Amino acid sequence: MSVDEQPRQEQPVDQRRSSELGRNLEQVRFRIASAADKRPAGMADPELIVVTKFHSAADVLLLAGLGVRDVGENKDQEAAAKSAEVSQRNTGAIMRWHFIGQLQSNKAKSVAAYAYSVHSVDRPGLVKALSTAVTAEQQRTGRADLLCFVQVNLDPALAAVPGTAVPGTASRGGVPAEGVLALAELIELAPGLRLAGVMAVAPHDGDAGEAFARLAKVSAVVVQRFPQATAISAGMSQDLERAIAAGATHLRVGSDILGPRQALR
Ligand SMILES: *Cc1c(COP(=O)(O)O)cnc(C)c1O
Repeated sequence: MSVDEQPRQEQPVDQRRSSELGRNLEQVRFRIASAADKRPAGMADPELIVVTKFHSAADVLLLAGLGVRDVGENKDQEAAAKSAEVSQRNTGAIMRWHFIGQLQSNKAKSVAAYAYSVHSVDRPGLVKALSTAVTAEQQRTGRADLLCFVQVNLDPALAAVPGTAVPGTASRGGVPAEGVLALAELIELAPGLRLAGVMAVAPHDGDAGEAFARLAKVSAVVVQRFPQATAISAGMSQDLERAIAAGATHLRVGSDILGPRQALR
């Protein structure tokens, strides 16, 4: 085999992966449509964010080819590199990068350069850092305001004690329900940021449906004060049906579309 035959050999692999992603996407979209059908008429279909963490820029490009525009990432270093590679190689569609993981304030500047939204806003210091970073970026590039979701801690055991979200414990991050309005207000007042709504991850142990119902109640309180902040980001591969039943507007689905996460492919 000569060297110049190699690019042609890569093609079938790409096509196989693309078909696999396409099939998985179709299945997930079918699940979403079925669950959404059971809701009261008039509710908009939830938006699907495809979580590409641990998967390559090549996969994101294949997803772009399949019509996906919204992708989610949970680590700044990985997301910054991947979004740069995708925007360099993707001559067509503009992707929207949603940041969904725990975020350190010193990464705000980097995130402001590529993120369309941050779903994991969980403390005043992060609001301040994001606002500063986005307004600076806006002066440089004219970027749009950053959509921000307040991450709500739905863990019944830890919800009452702020600042106890320790990695490896049952808690999956976020502010307790009673702290959500204050943080929402800070976002709403912060230049460069726009309050989208609330976000949560269902607790590891416990009933996801019950947890998402509590999230919907928190959302109702937020919407009463900030009528435009209607977004509810909830639901992953395992529990998207229960999230939709509870009123989710944004779903974050990874492994059921991209497959299991191991090392970066
Ligand atoms: C990884 C991740 C997801 C996607 O989870 P899957 O189980 O792969 O669908 C959703 N939300 C957050 C916050 C995540 O970190």
